[in-house]
Amino acid sequence: MNKKRVLSCIQPTGDMHFGNYFGAVKNWVDMQDEYECFYGVVDYHAMTMPYDVKKLRNNTWELIFNCLAVGVKPDNLFVQSLVPEHTELGWIFNNFAGMGRVENMTQFKDKSIQSKLGKDGFISVGLFDYPVLQAADILIYKADFVPVGKDQSQHLELTREIANRFNNMVGKEYFVLPETKYTATPKIMSTADPLRKMSKSAGEKHFINIFGEEARIRKQIKSAVTSSDTKMSEGVKNLLQLLTACGYNDKADELEKMEMDGTLKYSELKDVVADALVERSEIFKTKKAEIVADKKAIKNQIKDSSSAIRKVAQQTLNEVKDLVGLLNVKH
Ligand code: ADP
Repeated sequence: MNKKRVLSCIQPTGDMHFGNYFGAVKNWVDMQDEYECFYGVVDYHAMTMPYDVKKLRNNTWELIFNCLAVGVKPDNLFVQSLVPEHTELGWIFNNFAGMGRVENMTQFKDKSIQSKLGKDGFISVGLFDYPVLQAADILIYKADFVPVGKDQSQHLELTREIANRFNNMVGKEYFVLPETKYTATPKIMSTADPLRKMSKSAGEKHFINIFGEEARIRKQIKSAVTSSDTKMSEGVKNLLQLLTACGYNDKADELEKMEMDGTLKYSELKDVVADALVERSEIFKTKKAEIVADKKAIKNQIKDSSSAIRKVAQQTLNEVKDLVGLLNVKH
Protein backbone atom coordinates (compact mmCIF):
# COMPACT_ATOMS: atom_id res chain seq x y z
CA MET A 1 0.00 0.00 0.00
CA ASN A 2 1.28 3.48 -0.87
CA LYS A 3 2.09 5.60 2.13
CA LYS A 4 0.32 8.96 2.43
CA ARG A 5 2.56 11.97 1.88
CA VAL A 6 3.61 14.65 4.32
CA LEU A 7 5.29 17.99 3.57
CA SER A 8 6.42 20.73 5.89
CA CYS A 9 8.99 23.49 5.83
CA ILE A 10 10.95 25.80 8.09
CA GLN A 11 12.76 29.06 7.30
CA PRO A 12 16.49 29.42 7.92
CA THR A 13 16.06 32.77 9.61
CA GLY A 14 17.88 31.94 12.84
CA ASP A 15 17.64 29.53 15.74
CA MET A 16 15.07 26.77 16.13
CA HIS A 17 12.80 27.66 19.06
CA PHE A 18 10.41 25.74 21.30
CA GLY A 19 7.44 27.09 19.28
CA ASN A 20 8.84 25.55 16.08
CA TYR A 21 9.67 22.32 17.85
CA PHE A 22 6.53 21.70 19.94
CA GLY A 23 4.24 23.31 17.35
CA ALA A 24 5.48 21.52 14.24
CA VAL A 25 8.89 19.85 14.07
CA LYS A 26 8.06 17.28 16.79
CA ASN A 27 5.30 16.03 14.48
CA TRP A 28 7.76 15.87 11.57
CA VAL A 29 9.82 13.44 13.61
CA ASP A 30 6.86 11.42 14.87
CA MET A 31 5.31 11.00 11.39
CA GLN A 32 8.38 9.58 9.68
CA ASP A 33 7.61 5.86 10.07
CA GLU A 34 4.02 5.98 8.95
CA TYR A 35 4.25 8.47 6.05
CA GLU A 36 6.41 9.37 3.07
CA CYS A 37 7.90 12.64 4.31
CA PHE A 38 9.38 15.71 2.60
CA TYR A 39 10.83 18.36 4.91
CA GLY A 40 12.22 21.55 3.43
CA VAL A 41 14.58 24.18 4.70
CA VAL A 42 13.09 27.03 2.72
CA ASP A 43 15.86 29.49 1.97
CA TYR A 44 13.86 31.42 -0.67
CA HIS A 45 11.32 32.26 2.04
CA ALA A 46 14.11 33.55 4.26
CA MET A 47 14.83 36.25 1.65
CA THR A 48 11.38 37.82 1.96
CA MET A 49 12.30 39.91 5.02
CA PRO A 50 15.42 42.10 5.22
CA TYR A 51 18.30 39.66 5.79
CA ASP A 52 22.09 39.45 5.90
CA VAL A 53 23.47 37.89 2.70
CA LYS A 54 26.60 36.80 4.58
CA LYS A 55 24.53 34.74 7.02
CA LEU A 56 21.89 33.00 4.90
CA ARG A 57 23.96 30.03 3.66
CA ASN A 58 25.33 29.38 7.11
CA ASN A 59 21.85 29.65 8.66
CA THR A 60 20.62 27.09 6.13
CA TRP A 61 23.26 24.56 7.14
CA GLU A 62 22.79 25.31 10.83
CA LEU A 63 19.06 24.64 10.55
CA ILE A 64 19.76 21.36 8.78
CA PHE A 65 22.04 20.30 11.65
CA ASN A 66 19.29 21.34 14.07
CA CYS A 67 16.63 19.34 12.25
CA LEU A 68 18.85 16.26 12.28
CA ALA A 69 19.66 16.78 15.98
CA VAL A 70 15.97 16.65 16.93
CA GLY A 71 15.43 13.44 14.95
CA VAL A 72 14.55 14.33 11.33
CA LYS A 73 16.00 11.69 8.98
CA PRO A 74 18.46 13.09 6.40
CA ASP A 75 16.74 11.31 3.48
CA ASN A 76 13.60 13.32 4.20
CA LEU A 77 15.33 16.71 4.22
CA PHE A 78 15.91 19.02 1.28
CA VAL A 79 16.93 22.61 0.64
CA GLN A 80 14.34 24.57 -1.31
CA SER A 81 16.76 26.40 -3.63
CA LEU A 82 18.23 23.04 -4.69
CA VAL A 83 14.78 22.14 -6.04
CA PRO A 84 14.12 25.07 -8.43
CA GLU A 85 10.80 23.56 -9.54
CA HIS A 86 9.27 25.11 -6.39
CA THR A 87 9.79 28.64 -7.69
CA GLU A 88 8.65 27.68 -11.18
CA LEU A 89 5.41 26.25 -9.86
CA GLY A 90 5.13 29.28 -7.57
CA TRP A 91 5.09 31.54 -10.63
CA ILE A 92 2.41 29.43 -12.28
CA PHE A 93 0.37 29.58 -9.06
CA ASN A 94 0.55 33.39 -9.03
CA ASN A 95 -2.06 33.11 -11.74
CA PHE A 96 -4.33 30.98 -9.59
CA ALA A 97 -4.13 33.09 -6.42
CA GLY A 98 -6.47 36.08 -5.95
CA MET A 99 -5.01 39.47 -4.97
CA GLY A 100 -7.73 40.06 -2.37
CA ARG A 101 -7.08 36.75 -0.62
CA VAL A 102 -3.30 37.15 -0.54
CA GLU A 103 -3.65 40.73 0.72
CA ASN A 104 -5.65 39.41 3.65
CA MET A 105 -3.00 37.09 5.03
CA THR A 106 -2.38 38.04 8.66
CA GLN A 107 1.28 36.97 8.51
CA PHE A 108 1.83 39.46 5.70
CA LYS A 109 0.20 42.18 7.78
CA ASP A 110 2.26 41.31 10.89
CA LYS A 111 5.55 40.95 9.08
CA SER A 112 5.05 44.04 6.92
CA ILE A 113 4.57 46.06 10.10
CA GLN A 114 7.93 44.70 11.33
CA SER A 115 9.49 45.48 7.95
CA LYS A 116 8.15 49.03 8.09
CA LEU A 117 9.77 49.47 11.48
CA GLY A 118 13.12 48.52 9.90
CA LYS A 119 15.78 50.93 8.63
CA ASP A 120 14.18 52.05 5.36
CA GLY A 121 10.59 50.81 5.73
CA PHE A 122 11.02 48.49 2.75
CA ILE A 123 8.39 45.78 2.18
CA SER A 124 9.25 43.31 -0.58
CA VAL A 125 6.89 41.79 -3.14
CA GLY A 126 8.43 38.48 -2.01
CA LEU A 127 6.93 38.94 1.46
CA PHE A 128 3.52 39.54 -0.09
CA ASP A 129 3.84 36.56 -2.42
CA TYR A 130 5.37 34.04 -0.05
CA PRO A 131 2.13 32.14 0.72
CA VAL A 132 1.85 31.41 -3.03
CA LEU A 133 5.36 29.93 -3.08
CA GLN A 134 4.37 28.01 0.04
CA ALA A 135 1.39 26.57 -1.84
CA ALA A 136 3.85 25.36 -4.48
CA ASP A 137 6.11 23.86 -1.76
CA ILE A 138 3.19 21.77 -0.56
CA LEU A 139 1.36 20.88 -3.76
CA ILE A 140 4.46 19.97 -5.78
CA TYR A 141 4.72 16.83 -3.60
CA LYS A 142 0.94 16.25 -3.67
CA ALA A 143 1.08 16.16 0.12
CA ASP A 144 -1.90 14.72 1.99
CA PHE A 145 -0.85 16.20 5.35
CA VAL A 146 1.04 19.29 6.41
CA PRO A 147 2.28 19.30 10.02
CA VAL A 148 2.47 23.01 10.94
CA GLY A 149 1.64 25.30 13.83
CA LYS A 150 -1.75 27.09 14.07
CA ASP A 151 -0.15 30.28 12.68
CA GLN A 152 -0.08 28.60 9.27
CA SER A 153 -3.76 27.61 9.04
CA GLN A 154 -4.69 30.61 6.86
CA HIS A 155 -1.88 29.80 4.41
CA LEU A 156 -3.06 26.20 4.20
CA GLU A 157 -6.55 27.43 3.39
CA LEU A 158 -5.06 29.53 0.56
CA THR A 159 -3.15 26.47 -0.67
CA ARG A 160 -6.40 24.51 -0.90
CA GLU A 161 -8.05 27.39 -2.77
CA ILE A 162 -5.20 27.50 -5.29
CA ALA A 163 -5.40 23.72 -5.74
CA ASN A 164 -9.16 23.95 -6.24
CA ARG A 165 -8.94 26.74 -8.80
CA PHE A 166 -6.24 24.84 -10.64
CA ASN A 167 -8.26 21.60 -10.61
CA ASN A 168 -11.35 23.43 -11.90
CA MET A 169 -9.38 25.12 -14.65
CA VAL A 170 -7.77 21.93 -15.94
CA GLY A 171 -10.98 19.95 -15.48
CA LYS A 172 -9.71 17.21 -13.18
CA GLU A 173 -8.84 16.54 -9.55
CA TYR A 174 -5.13 16.82 -10.23
CA PHE A 175 -3.93 18.25 -6.90
CA VAL A 176 -4.75 16.61 -3.60
CA LEU A 177 -6.29 19.12 -1.15
CA PRO A 178 -3.86 18.91 1.78
CA GLU A 179 -4.92 18.85 5.42
CA THR A 180 -3.13 20.40 8.38
CA LYS A 181 -1.83 18.16 11.13
CA TYR A 182 -1.46 19.89 14.49
CA THR A 183 0.46 18.77 17.55
CA ALA A 184 -1.23 18.84 20.97
CA THR A 185 0.36 22.32 21.41
CA PRO A 186 -0.05 24.03 18.03
CA LYS A 187 0.51 27.58 19.30
CA ILE A 188 3.27 28.38 21.76
CA MET A 189 3.28 32.01 22.86
CA SER A 190 6.20 34.33 23.53
CA THR A 191 7.10 34.21 27.22
CA ALA A 192 7.98 37.93 27.04
CA ASP A 193 4.57 38.77 25.58
CA PRO A 194 2.08 35.89 25.91
CA LEU A 195 -0.39 37.63 23.60
CA ARG A 196 1.86 37.09 20.59
CA LYS A 197 3.29 33.85 19.23
CA MET A 198 6.81 32.74 19.98
CA SER A 199 8.68 33.70 16.82
CA LYS A 200 12.16 34.28 15.46
CA SER A 201 11.08 37.23 13.42
CA ALA A 202 9.65 39.10 16.43
CA GLY A 203 13.11 39.55 17.98
CA GLU A 204 15.48 37.94 20.50
CA LYS A 205 13.31 38.07 23.60
CA HIS A 206 10.30 36.55 21.83
CA PHE A 207 11.73 33.07 21.33
CA ILE A 208 13.61 30.46 23.33
CA ASN A 209 16.33 28.69 21.36
CA ILE A 210 16.11 24.92 21.90
CA PHE A 211 19.92 24.74 21.63
CA GLY A 212 20.42 27.82 23.81
CA GLU A 213 22.65 28.25 26.83
CA GLU A 214 21.10 26.84 30.01
CA ALA A 215 21.54 30.16 31.83
CA ARG A 216 19.68 32.01 29.06
CA ILE A 217 16.78 29.54 29.02
CA ARG A 218 16.45 29.86 32.81
CA LYS A 219 16.64 33.67 32.61
CA GLN A 220 13.95 33.82 29.91
CA ILE A 221 11.60 31.63 31.94
CA LYS A 222 12.34 33.55 35.14
CA SER A 223 11.34 36.78 33.43
CA ALA A 224 8.27 35.24 31.74
CA VAL A 225 5.24 37.51 31.98
CA THR A 226 2.59 36.13 34.34
CA SER A 227 -0.34 37.97 35.83
CA SER A 228 -1.99 37.22 39.15
CA ASP A 229 -4.89 39.60 38.35
CA THR A 230 -6.83 36.84 36.67
CA LYS A 231 -6.77 33.07 37.10
CA MET A 232 -4.97 31.24 34.29
CA SER A 233 -3.61 34.32 32.55
CA GLU A 234 -2.19 33.77 29.06
CA GLY A 235 1.34 33.71 30.47
CA VAL A 236 0.54 31.02 33.07
CA LYS A 237 -1.39 29.00 30.48
CA ASN A 238 1.61 29.15 28.15
CA LEU A 239 4.06 27.98 30.83
CA LEU A 240 1.76 25.05 31.72
CA GLN A 241 1.48 24.26 28.03
CA LEU A 242 5.29 24.15 27.72
CA LEU A 243 5.44 21.79 30.70
CA THR A 244 2.86 19.47 29.12
CA ALA A 245 4.71 19.57 25.81
CA CYS A 246 7.86 18.42 27.63
CA GLY A 247 5.92 15.34 28.75
CA TYR A 248 5.17 16.42 32.35
CA ASN A 249 1.39 16.17 32.02
CA ASP A 250 0.71 15.10 35.62
CA LYS A 251 2.83 17.88 37.07
CA ALA A 252 1.12 20.40 34.75
CA ASP A 253 -2.32 19.16 35.92
CA GLU A 254 -1.26 19.45 39.55
CA LEU A 255 0.04 23.00 39.07
CA GLU A 256 -3.08 23.97 37.14
CA LYS A 257 -5.25 22.84 40.08
CA MET A 258 -3.11 24.94 42.42
CA GLU A 259 -3.57 27.94 40.10
CA MET A 260 -7.34 27.46 40.25
CA ASP A 261 -7.16 27.21 44.07
CA GLY A 262 -5.04 30.34 44.22
CA THR A 263 -2.12 28.49 45.87
CA LEU A 264 0.32 28.41 42.95
CA LYS A 265 3.58 30.29 43.43
CA TYR A 266 4.75 31.50 40.02
CA SER A 267 8.39 31.20 41.07
CA GLU A 268 7.78 27.46 41.62
CA LEU A 269 5.99 27.12 38.28
CA LYS A 270 8.87 28.86 36.53
CA ASP A 271 11.50 26.63 38.17
CA VAL A 272 9.69 23.47 37.08
CA VAL A 273 9.21 24.73 33.51
CA ALA A 274 12.84 25.88 33.24
CA ASP A 275 14.06 22.45 34.47
CA ALA A 276 11.89 20.67 31.88
CA LEU A 277 13.08 22.87 28.99
CA VAL A 278 16.72 22.62 30.03
CA GLU A 279 16.41 18.82 30.24
CA ARG A 280 15.06 18.71 26.65
CA SER A 281 17.63 21.16 25.42
CA GLU A 282 20.52 19.12 26.85
CA ILE A 283 19.38 16.05 24.88
CA PHE A 284 19.25 18.10 21.65
CA LYS A 285 22.63 19.71 22.30
CA THR A 286 24.34 16.36 22.88
CA LYS A 287 22.92 15.03 19.63
CA LYS A 288 23.90 18.17 17.73
CA ALA A 289 27.50 17.91 18.93
CA GLU A 290 27.65 14.41 17.38
CA ILE A 291 26.18 15.68 14.11
CA VAL A 292 28.44 18.68 13.60
CA ALA A 293 31.48 16.48 14.17
CA ASP A 294 31.15 15.43 10.53
CA LYS A 295 29.69 18.43 8.73
CA LYS A 296 31.12 17.55 5.33
CA ALA A 297 29.44 14.14 5.18
CA ILE A 298 26.12 15.65 6.26
CA LYS A 299 26.32 18.39 3.64
CA ASN A 300 26.91 15.83 0.89
CA GLN A 301 24.06 13.70 2.21
CA ILE A 302 21.65 16.65 2.10
CA LYS A 303 22.71 17.58 -1.44
CA ASP A 304 22.00 13.96 -2.46
CA SER A 305 18.64 13.83 -0.69
CA SER A 306 17.68 17.17 -2.31
CA SER A 307 18.51 15.69 -5.75
CA ALA A 308 16.45 12.57 -5.04
CA ILE A 309 13.50 14.63 -3.79
CA ARG A 310 13.85 16.93 -6.82
CA LYS A 311 12.83 14.03 -9.07
CA VAL A 312 9.38 14.00 -7.46
CA ALA A 313 9.06 17.76 -7.95
CA GLN A 314 10.19 17.53 -11.59
CA GLN A 315 7.53 14.97 -12.36
CA THR A 316 4.77 17.18 -10.96
CA LEU A 317 6.06 20.24 -12.81
CA ASN A 318 6.17 18.32 -16.09
CA GLU A 319 2.56 17.26 -15.62
CA VAL A 320 1.51 20.79 -14.62
CA LYS A 321 3.17 22.33 -17.69
CA ASP A 322 1.31 19.91 -19.91
CA LEU A 323 -1.96 20.66 -18.15
CA VAL A 324 -1.71 24.48 -18.34
CA GLY A 325 -0.56 24.71 -21.94
CA LEU A 326 3.14 25.49 -21.60
CA LEU A 327 5.83 24.09 -23.85
CA ASN A 328 7.76 21.35 -22.15
CA VAL A 329 11.11 19.63 -22.46
CA LYS A 330 10.83 16.64 -20.14
CA HIS A 331 13.63 16.01 -17.60
P1 ADP B 1 8.98 31.66 12.74
O1 ADP B 1 7.53 32.04 12.83
O2 ADP B 1 9.64 31.59 14.09
O3 ADP B 1 9.75 32.50 11.76
P2 ADP B 1 8.77 29.52 10.74
O4 ADP B 1 7.89 30.44 9.96
O5 ADP B 1 10.05 29.08 10.12
O6 ADP B 1 9.05 30.15 12.19
O7 ADP B 1 7.90 28.25 11.15
C1 ADP B 1 8.32 26.90 11.09
C2 ADP B 1 7.23 26.02 11.67
O8 ADP B 1 7.07 26.28 13.07
C3 ADP B 1 5.85 26.27 11.03
O9 ADP B 1 5.18 25.03 10.88
C4 ADP B 1 5.13 27.10 12.05
O10 ADP B 1 3.71 26.91 12.01
C5 ADP B 1 5.70 26.57 13.34
N1 ADP B 1 5.67 27.58 14.39
C6 ADP B 1 6.34 28.76 14.37
N2 ADP B 1 6.10 29.46 15.49
C7 ADP B 1 5.25 28.70 16.24
C8 ADP B 1 4.63 28.87 17.53
N3 ADP B 1 4.86 29.95 18.26
N4 ADP B 1 3.82 27.89 17.99
C9 ADP B 1 3.59 26.78 17.24
N5 ADP B 1 4.15 26.55 16.03
C10 ADP B 1 4.97 27.50 15.54
